[in-house]
Amino acid sequence: MISLVDLTAQYHSIKKEIDAAVLSTLESGHFILGPQVVKFEESVASYLGVKHAIGLASGTDALVIALRALNIGEGDEVIIPAYTFFATAGTVMAGGATPVFVDVDPQTYQMDVSKIESAITSKTRAIIPVHLYGHPAEMNPILEISRKHGLKVIEDNAQGFGAEYLGKKTGALGDIGCLSFFPTKNLGAYGDGGMSVTNDAALAERMRKLRAHGWKKKYYPEEVGFNSRLDALQAAILQAKLPHLDSWNEKRRELSQRYNEQLAPLGIVTPVEREWAKHVYHLYIIRVEKRDALQAFLKEKGIASEVYYPLPPHLSVPCKKFGYKEGDFPHAGKAAKKTLALPLYPELTLEQQDEVIAAVEEFVSK
Ligand SMILES: *Cc1c(COP(=O)(O)O)cnc(C)c1O
Repeated sequence: MISLVDLTAQYHSIKKEIDAAVLSTLESGHFILGPQVVKFEESVASYLGVKHAIGLASGTDALVIALRALNIGEGDEVIIPAYTFFATAGTVMAGGATPVFVDVDPQTYQMDVSKIESAITSKTRAIIPVHLYGHPAEMNPILEISRKHGLKVIEDNAQGFGAEYLGKKTGALGDIGCLSFFPTKNLGAYGDGGMSVTNDAALAERMRKLRAHGWKKKYYPEEVGFNSRLDALQAAILQAKLPHLDSWNEKRRELSQRYNEQLAPLGIVTPVEREWAKHVYHLYIIRVEKRDALQAFLKEKGIASEVYYPLPPHLSVPCKKFGYKEGDFPHAGKAAKKTLALPLYPELTLEQQDEVIAAVEEFVSK
């Protein structure tokens, strides 16, 4: 049995460091915010090269809080890619604003920057590029368009921790960057966790307030906020894992390169990495005509695979009220029907990978 990701393999590879981090947090008696969270916030800020980092309860909350901090809500429009995890659209709607979709580039699956300007209206307030699968979105055109039209940029960097655009870390390029530490993300906690980062001191202060009931001084709220804090235990675990992120991402890149070399000759459409990009392969995504048949075949062989995502947000139930239909964003629609994620994680062995490749080869030659 080969799974899509194996979280226990990673735990066993760094068990001593993790166990020590957990135990010392238990001994410290600090469980909500406190020194572990501050230390991890400083570590991420320094890793990304940003001034402020705010530990939050999840990546979803990071998006909600970023939108609130920018006063984006009722009556506003936010431009997002038509192919992404639902939370990108859901958080815009949770805050009362309307998501406006832009189709994706069929090769990188990133927001097609040539289609952004025609989606801008007098109500547009922000753009949320998503560094989907770990490949960066094309940030310079997005930042230029946002400056020209006075829009904010929130990077959904949940899948792109460690990725680079023209040599600069994603998440550090827009007004606010949002991270998720969901266990399967490139840097994963053992539970939920998230973070927002910014170079703007006022935005940082507002987000710190919003994560704790809207107060700076305890029990004296200045506005209605949330309870959305990164756990001290998760922060300690993540602090122990962060020094490994670059080597884990390098492992993902090597294994992806190996998949590319073996699968492309079989007529499989393999992922691309643009010349301005450093891809961190949160997911290894192939495109095949007989996607569902391949997935069933792999399953028979004991090999897991998954579709990210079978339903583009614009076709979801919560978005029904906007009146979109099948075919509206053709590249997003096609990606939902033809793409498949193969097993990929830093601890995947070459033998396991060979087994996946052999199974795909057998399917193709049937
Ligand atoms: C995982 C993810 C999120 C949400 O993060 P959570 O920590 O699970 O709330 C948001 N956007 C994208 C693109 C994601 O992959």
